Amino acid sequence: MRVIADFHIHGRYSVATSKSMEIPEIARCARVKGLSLVGTGDFTHPKWLQHLHSTLREVEEMGLYVYEPLPSVYFMLTTEVETVFEHEGRVRRVHHVVLAPSFEVIEQINERLSRFGSLSKDGRPTLSMPASELVEELVQVSSDVEVFPAHVFTPWRSVLGAFGGFDSVEECYQDMSHKIHAIETGLSADPPMIWRLSRLDRFTLLSNSDSHSPQPHRIGREANVFELRKLCYREIIEAIRARDNSRLKMTIEVYPDYGKYHFDGHRSCKLPSGEPVVLSPREAMELGERCPVCGKKLTKGVMHRVEELADRPQGHRPEGSIPYVHMLPLAEVVAAATGSSPFSKAVSETCQRLISSFGSEFAVLLDAPVEEISRVSGSRVAEAVRRVRSGEVVVTPGFDGVYGKIVIFEEGG
Ligand SMILES: [Zn+2]
Ligand SMILES: [Zn+2]
Ligand SMILES: [Zn+2]
Repeated sequence: MRVIADFHIHGRYSVATSKSMEIPEIARCARVKGLSLVGTGDFTHPKWLQHLHSTLREVEEMGLYVYEPLPSVYFMLTTEVETVFEHEGRVRRVHHVVLAPSFEVIEQINERLSRFGSLSKDGRPTLSMPASELVEELVQVSSDVEVFPAHVFTPWRSVLGAFGGFDSVEECYQDMSHKIHAIETGLSADPPMIWRLSRLDRFTLLSNSDSHSPQPHRIGREANVFELRKLCYREIIEAIRARDNSRLKMTIEVYPDYGKYHFDGHRSCKLPSGEPVVLSPREAMELGERCPVCGKKLTKGVMHRVEELADRPQGHRPEGSIPYVHMLPLAEVVAAATGSSPFSKAVSETCQRLISSFGSEFAVLLDAPVEEISRVSGSRVAEAVRRVRSGEVVVTPGFDGVYGKIVIFEEGG
């Protein structure tokens, strides 16, 4: 059976998260999106944990949970934590995603982690401990717990990030590196970028939305497509650990240029043209990595960081790698086709018509024949979906916290 999973989201107690981010709404949006499995996020937070207890029911022997009114969407107990520690004279902040099989296991995890920082301040707690110690604590609770570094190339708070990161996964996790089987690509990077680093060949690449709001626009915008004989926690963990491309069939990726940290730049520094400072890695290097407006250090994007660490040219594909598709949220595609805002009423009505015709957003984006989309919503939306599928899309790169802009049709096209 096909299982589309998004392991990394945040609940309402995380900073900058929508207050409607609660289980019933997450389940509803996951179903609209076409996700069959979604992470709960934030299981370390006491109030969120209470909410999970009161809304979710364990499915017998699966290690997964459901919200009863919508039993077609499964939940996995997940969280994200930040570790902060000093290494070789610099403070390092790294985010990690944790997957767990049961409430009993997470009670023990929370008890251990609460010794390293407050779990109630933020849905994503900050823990004063080295990454290797985090992994050690987690595997001591249960060998079923899985942990992997989050959005590995974002400039801040990531294992390979330009500011406060490391040059390799091993440098970060030290003697516990062998327990790390996967890395999360993050929105601003995609598998072909990561394939340029031979030091990452052994890791399973996972893609998650890191969503802070429940709209189908955000949730599941990146996801993992499994083909499983049986849906259960253990099958999924085994597929991830084995980097098994017969079970983990592909990842769904936004165009990496769309991500908020693809290029270098300064969002609040304006050129004489009125445009903010956005630079490709090469342009930034020519300027000594300094902003041409304020002269300060640029926020180094993911592409630049990949360029620094890469030991291969573009185009290399490691053996056994997991396939991927580039995709964009349906509202973005319809908005680009119709020239309206993705949040407008007209766009939302078109999306709803498509979703009720084909079953879910992923069914529209991945599977529906173009002619049938055309019958439901007109030829321009159908053509937009076709172009997104075939990569005929231009995206002006995101930078310094600003999303990239999607161009599916050239002016007047
Ligand atoms: Zn994070
Ligand atoms: Zn996150
Ligand atoms: Zn500047």
